[in-house]
Amino acid sequence: MTAKLSPLLSRLTDFCWLFFPTLLFFSVLYGFYFYNTELLQSWLINLWWLSYASLAIAAIIALQFGRSRLVYACLLLLIIAANKVLTFPPELLDAKYSGILFGFVFLMYSKDKGFSAINFSFSLVVFLSLFAVSWLAIPTLQQFSQAWLTSLDGMLYQLSPDLRTLVTPFNSALLIVSLLLGLLRLVIKTDNTHNALFFALVLSALMHIVGDTDFGLISIVSLAGLFCYSILKDSFTMAFKDELTGIPSRRALMQFVQTLGRKYTVVMSDIDHFKKFNDTYGHDVGDEVLKLVASKLDKVSGGGKTFRFGGEEFIIVFPRKTAAEVTPFVEMVRQTIANYDIALRAKPRPPKPKKALAAKKPAAKKPAKEQIVKVTTSFGVAQRTKEHADFASIMKQADIALYAAKKGGRNCVRIAKQ
Ligand code: GH3
Ligand code: MG
Ligand code: MG
Repeated sequence: MTAKLSPLLSRLTDFCWLFFPTLLFFSVLYGFYFYNTELLQSWLINLWWLSYASLAIAAIIALQFGRSRLVYACLLLLIIAANKVLTFPPELLDAKYSGILFGFVFLMYSKDKGFSAINFSFSLVVFLSLFAVSWLAIPTLQQFSQAWLTSLDGMLYQLSPDLRTLVTPFNSALLIVSLLLGLLRLVIKTDNTHNALFFALVLSALMHIVGDTDFGLISIVSLAGLFCYSILKDSFTMAFKDELTGIPSRRALMQFVQTLGRKYTVVMSDIDHFKKFNDTYGHDVGDEVLKLVASKLDKVSGGGKTFRFGGEEFIIVFPRKTAAEVTPFVEMVRQTIANYDIALRAKPRPPKPKKALAAKKPAAKKPAKEQIVKVTTSFGVAQRTKEHADFASIMKQADIALYAAKKGGRNCVRIAKQ
């Protein structure tokens, strides 16, 4: 039960960590705006160009990083920013509103496909269709939905008579549908880009409802900032997180090393007989086990920080600790891994390899239903000393200790003789 609940819980935790700080940021921003509207308006009086400039910067950065959806999002926001230049006749306002809302929903459900002629044309056709369908369908839809919107109208009026004058029940219904679709997508696919697109969707609706130029300006500038932040955050994650296991990568280790003082200990860890494991159960199962081992190593106590060094090798760095001090923590994590029952579920047999390959490699064995297997890991521990003061030399010592652990029968911890 807990095993089934934990992915859902971790997804919800990710969602909360991403969604609520952004919500807090915009709440503080708007709180400040509504309490100091006059002051802010006097500041912003000559800064109308800021929305265009910030959207241009965000679009250029998104283009450079191949984030086509954020480029399109900037274009959608540009339609709002250009409100004064592109004056929409009142009969088109609803089409503009729903076109933009569902444009963001479309972006949330599509992928960054780049700007090849075909992809660009496809996205353009989708956007134009969204606006055209909104324009053509809205009058009919509005009439058709009149009956069941009366209750929503009453509810809106009760909630806030002011709100009722700002947004029609039909537009509220569109907003609720698009928000639900957006929120569902954000929960399913919680990442910085979807978070930024979801807030762009919400704030586009808010800009339409509030209808104030300065409110629009601060919203667009902060959304452009959120787009840039999401691009930079994703690039940072890509560069410093290992793609398979999700723990910090070798590059992150090299950066972390710069921050270390004069006293620290390096632990090198390597899964035992992993080649054989792959050959027996298949590379995909091997990958899952690698993720599992990484997650156990990542939870090491004693202040250790774990990195995937490469292949099935990991490094744990313990700042401000000696080899003797860290050994109990390493021993604990070794035992945790060795005692862990890995349940292999029966999977469909992979497609048969070609004859030439099959002759060289033994075929992957299909795991029996709920077969329990175990893996073990060996550890080499080395601390910083006067003779081994630089990181490369400490790593060499840890590697020698790891070799000794392998020689000593594996599934054990060895400390370097320093
Ligand atoms: P030892 O106990 O001496 O460490 O034996 P070993 O088989 O683990 O050592 P060896 O270095 O010979 O093999 C490492 C194997 O790890 C080779 C490769 O099949 C596997 N491996 C490396 N990276 C990955 C990966 O990303 N995914 C999977 N599934 N296997 C990997
Ligand atoms: Mg190895
Ligand atoms: Mg190994």
